[in-house]
Amino acid sequence: MTRIQMNTPLVEMDGDEMTRILWKMIKEDLIEPFVDLKTEYYDLGLKHRDETDDQVTTDAALAAKKYGVAVKCATITPNKARMEEYSLKKLYKSPNGTIRAILDGTVFRKPILVKGIEPYIRTWKKPIVLARHAHGDVYKDSEMKISGSFPVKAELAVTDAEGNETRQDIFTFGADGILEGMYNTTASIRSFARSCFEYALDQKMDLWFSTKDTISKVYDGEFKDIFADMYETEYKERFAEAGIEYFYTLIDDAVARVVRSEGGMLWALKNYDGDVMSDMMAAAFGSLAMMTSVLVSPEGIYEYEAAHGTVQRHYYKYLEGKETSTNSVATIFAWSGALRKRAELDGLDDLKEFADRLEKAVLSVIESGKMTGDLAAVTTLENVTKLNSEQFILAVREELEKA
Ligand code: NAP
Ligand code: MG
Repeated sequence: MTRIQMNTPLVEMDGDEMTRILWKMIKEDLIEPFVDLKTEYYDLGLKHRDETDDQVTTDAALAAKKYGVAVKCATITPNKARMEEYSLKKLYKSPNGTIRAILDGTVFRKPILVKGIEPYIRTWKKPIVLARHAHGDVYKDSEMKISGSFPVKAELAVTDAEGNETRQDIFTFGADGILEGMYNTTASIRSFARSCFEYALDQKMDLWFSTKDTISKVYDGEFKDIFADMYETEYKERFAEAGIEYFYTLIDDAVARVVRSEGGMLWALKNYDGDVMSDMMAAAFGSLAMMTSVLVSPEGIYEYEAAHGTVQRHYYKYLEGKETSTNSVATIFAWSGALRKRAELDGLDDLKEFADRLEKAVLSVIESGKMTGDLAAVTTLENVTKLNSEQFILAVREELEKA
């Protein structure tokens, strides 16, 4: 059999624990037999990050910038326990944070829908994609406890380079209380908006955006205005051509409308709203292991991954030689997403067709009742066979070979 050819390499970022085990199986069993795979390989496994003083993460992000498309395995974000476990030289930052800072991207999370794993909301027929603005707001705030001799007056104070001061009253405390200050930058909000408009066009999905600008007239109002201006001046015609809409509404109204909708929209959210809603969505669509994630930079660089972590608990079982039933679907879809994007950029129809075929094969296997334990526990299908990690991938391989 002749394998499908590629022109430009994918940037491949390997990772940790159970997902690293799945990664190798996916490559060897599902991709390399069919595609003459070209990748530029970066080992983001924690051991190698430590050996390179984390330089490998920066190099991988720069390679993504150079080639335009990357696929990433889940990686450990070190904490104190990991520092001991891996005898690390220091407590490295989250690789995803490092990559996001270099690419200045927005993360889009998209659920994989399959018959037999039904969303808890009956009306949802199509995936709802969430875009979270992962910069600033309460995640970079300053906070204080207020106590002392009352009254205590709290003000917002800003000093510019020439020493000019602007002050605004916040509140005068007559008794104990709390205070918080937060910020965002116009540049970051603009690049968030641009990523959302571009991704909506790429996916041909309506774009919804929501804030609480009736209450937060200046802060949330700025988010609303930036999106509205960019839409009017740069995207209105392109959206009309693509047959999609831009829709702004208040966050509470948006929540109610999303629940009553049939899905199919891209929902852009401020940092905190996105944090809360993305976990709600993952659960409501059935399983965290069926959620993909793609980082899109304003210049159109794409990095694909699964939304879940390295599945540590399963990995320790694997190390003990015990059987695992870890779901590889989101990681397989990270590969198919990256291959499809590479194919689109390089005009490779056969590679694009392979990416579609791979996804279809995964869905067929699940729909036929063969699935990993996490899905077997929630499926509405009858006559289910629970497969282990390797059996599932081999079942997909068999299905691919049939096609
Ligand atoms: P996790 O790896 O997402 O797993 C949490 C639990 O969710 C698992 O124990 C498992 O439940 C279930 N689960 C998640 N993915 C699954 C899959 N593919 N198949 C079956 N079950 C799955 O989160 P974590 O255990 O909190 O984090 C482990 C490591 O991942 C941490 O070091 C963290 O830093 C890292 N992390 C990385 C990323 C990333 O690279 N994007 C994201 C999140 C976390 P059961 O044990 O009940 O079966
Ligand atoms: Mg969260």
